[in-house]
Amino acid sequence: MNQTVEELAAFLSLPHKIVITMHRDPDADALGSSLGWGRYLSKKGHEVTIISPTDYSANLRWLPGMEDVLIYENGTQQAICKKKIDQAELICCLDFSVLSRLKDLGKVVQDAGAIKMMIDHHLEPEHFAKWMIWDTQAAATAQLVFALIKELEPGVLVKDLIDEKQAQCLYAGIMTDTGSFRHPNVTPDVHLAVADLMLAGLDTSRIHRLIYDNAPLSRLQFLGYVLSQKLIVLPEFRTAYMVLTEAELARFNSSTGETEGIVNYGLQVENVVMSALFIERKGEVKISFRSVGTFSVRDLASGHFSGGGHKNASGGRSELSITDTVNKFLSILPEQKEALLSVD
Ligand code: 5GP
Ligand code: MN
Repeated sequence: MNQTVEELAAFLSLPHKIVITMHRDPDADALGSSLGWGRYLSKKGHEVTIISPTDYSANLRWLPGMEDVLIYENGTQQAICKKKIDQAELICCLDFSVLSRLKDLGKVVQDAGAIKMMIDHHLEPEHFAKWMIWDTQAAATAQLVFALIKELEPGVLVKDLIDEKQAQCLYAGIMTDTGSFRHPNVTPDVHLAVADLMLAGLDTSRIHRLIYDNAPLSRLQFLGYVLSQKLIVLPEFRTAYMVLTEAELARFNSSTGETEGIVNYGLQVENVVMSALFIERKGEVKISFRSVGTFSVRDLASGHFSGGGHKNASGGRSELSITDTVNKFLSILPEQKEALLSVD
């Protein structure tokens, strides 16, 4: 056991008030890892509160334990969230490493007196946490949670440690952050973790169906519109991009979750190695980037669009108009051309 885990184990040997939080617009890894970790702590006798900074996509509502997750942005729940954070002795920060990813909740967490702990796999973390379970080689935060629980309970068989609901939460995170086991972040350890979860009684096919085959008809119709009308390919830069205005989102009655994953379609075009999605929402432009191989969209997001993330999956924001944001992106492409063309 390394020193961090040893100190954590000693702290967890007595019951505590614990808050778990994750990045805004949480995905299946942020929520799945939080719920899996929360369930472990509850079973150990701790009083656990899970707080999401914002609402989340409808296809994640089935995750076991979701009914108890508080949403900070939800007016009536904000006061309870603040009280829980105020009373907390430990705040666990999952699937993010910079406090700005918490939106308005970031300052509340920063100012809280509780010990902070980070479990995360993103690059370049801020140092706000006393205990850091941080590994950029991990495919998902849920994978780190799984490994941490095993480390905290040496000698206990996984099937006695992780119940089926926990396995569903952790698997949802691992499955989605690996793009259903096809990204280069998949290692033998990922498959070994999943094998253990399956031995704990997990039905993997059901989880896949609940996440990917559980969309309202409107999402598929919206996707059809985006792919047929909005996908632009620039072969000379091996780049694809899509631009969605607030009016278009309103026309399709699109909620936050319905644009999730759409950026990946750009990479399905032959020879394309970078895909970008620009979404105008609530007075700002949210950008998602995806790439393959050596081309780093994290550098692009952090260098030009106040964002970050992983080498092949990153995001950022812009306060310019959507047209100016896209023009800025287009003006950057020539200087990236060599790197884009050299991807294998
Ligand atoms: P998505 O495109 O799915 O929103 O985000 C892809 C990846 O980029 C995620 O792993 C996320 O952590 C990261 N990311 C997205 N938006 C931001 C941002 O505004 N700031 C930072 N630092 N990372 C982001
Ligand atoms: Mn993640």
